[in-house]
Amino acid sequence: MKSKLKKTAQAFLVIMMAAGTAAAGEPLEFKPLPYAFDALEPHIDARTMEIHYTRHHQAYFNNLLKAVEGTEMAGRSLEDILASADALPAAVRNNGGGHWNHTMFWQVMSPEGGGEPEGALAEQIIRDFGSFAEFQKKFNEAAATRFGSGWAWLCVAEDGSLFVISTPNQDNPLMKAADRRGTPILGLDVWEHAYYLKYQNLRASYIEAFWNVVNWPEVASRYAAAGQKSESLSPD
Ligand code: MN
Repeated sequence: MKSKLKKTAQAFLVIMMAAGTAAAGEPLEFKPLPYAFDALEPHIDARTMEIHYTRHHQAYFNNLLKAVEGTEMAGRSLEDILASADALPAAVRNNGGGHWNHTMFWQVMSPEGGGEPEGALAEQIIRDFGSFAEFQKKFNEAAATRFGSGWAWLCVAEDGSLFVISTPNQDNPLMKAADRRGTPILGLDVWEHAYYLKYQNLRASYIEAFWNVVNWPEVASRYAAAGQKSESLSPD
């Protein structure tokens, strides 16, 4: 980051901390789906999207609200809760992870998705994986070999490099429980509820179809934001 921008980011952080709001973040919110249930057809079918969003995601959200109500977690941002606790209560780990993961999942897909990333993200993928095809191979493997229910992720490490990892259940790499921690910028839900109606047991076909709906501009903006966050926190 340019030094002027970096100073601005640092000043902002200081103001936030002085105001005592650094950990408050956004209130918990069940955001509208950014497109219609049938918008990702034929890759992800409308019935799956409707059940996934209105039943599964809504339930994680409702149960998260119940789990944090009346506790010290109530006023904190979800990212802060997931990242800061050594041992999250099971209800917060499962439903907080479920809410964060699905909120991100809807946003990193788009009816205009597919293709390949451009710019700084594309360059970083080549630096860390050799090529876009090699990155896809690694991601596919992580998604396919996650036993049972879970997620595959592309993450930004603290040093700005990218890595691929998978997590079980509704865990994610923000949590201390993850094998490796980082900021997720692309996630794929490989729970059976995400694909069984259309693909049955063929998880690999669902993973292949996912690449047609990846919203690369959104992933690139998450990559840029992750870089700014780590720079604003690092010493000069
Ligand atoms: Mn799901």
